[in-house]
Amino acid sequence: MSEIALPQHEIYAIRYARRDARRADHFVGGDPHDAPMPMDYFTWVIRDAERVVLVDTGFTAPVAKARKRQHLRCPIEALDLLGIAPESVREVVQTHLHYDHVGNFDKLPNARFHLTDREMAFATGRYMKYPKFRHSFEPDDVAGMVRLNFEGRVEFHDREAELAPGISLHPVGGHTPGLQVVRVSTARGHVVLASDAMHYYENWMTDRPFSTAWHLGDMVEAYRAVERLAASPRHVVPGHDPLVMRQYPPPRPELEGIVIRLDVEPSFMPSFGEERH
Ligand SMILES: [Zn+2]
Repeated sequence: MSEIALPQHEIYAIRYARRDARRADHFVGGDPHDAPMPMDYFTWVIRDAERVVLVDTGFTAPVAKARKRQHLRCPIEALDLLGIAPESVREVVQTHLHYDHVGNFDKLPNARFHLTDREMAFATGRYMKYPKFRHSFEPDDVAGMVRLNFEGRVEFHDREAELAPGISLHPVGGHTPGLQVVRVSTARGHVVLASDAMHYYENWMTDRPFSTAWHLGDMVEAYRAVERLAASPRHVVPGHDPLVMRQYPPPRPELEGIVIRLDVEPSFMPSFGEERH
């Protein structure tokens, strides 16, 4: 029996922003331990000899200022650190349309944007009149995505889809109705870029969802979906956890603290007192 070998993609995370926060900020219902729990912000790059795929596009410096986030670098300018010109990026996956995932789209003049129908419907629909739901969206970003659609540059997905051999999109919902995660073939097996299906390892490993939520049941089911898609728990990459910067190496020493490589084994895995696994 011969198997068709899947491409062995490289995956990188670019850390473009951070903020200070407390544990109680990150769990539905808060947390009894009053301790710091900072948050990192990432965009992800998938690359092989054939193509570059960007997963999410971060936010801009003005949005960082308005929302009191510490902007470290423009994630699109930072592509240069990996030898990638923004003009060369043809495919961008938007895991969802929250402000920290969808800014900067105007800096990618030749890209198509992959998005779920449900996410676009949510971001342009009835729930945006409620502060609870619109808080994490920037109207200019949402309008920008509508304009891109009018230019024929948005590819809609309403189910699992293969973007390229070894790169697939999987709608999971929960955090937002239209959230999708990305599964990527690598030399170490299938890695899942979980984005905001899980902000932190602890949300996932203790089944305690993050505080920004559309549907709590779907959120915990999304943890199970991510587990099924990944080769092992060591192949799951949470969307906002500073721990990943310590688990994975920079591609070059001078990129320490800025870029990490995710297609290699993590050096350790966290564990938590109330852990299920
Ligand atoms: Zn996010």
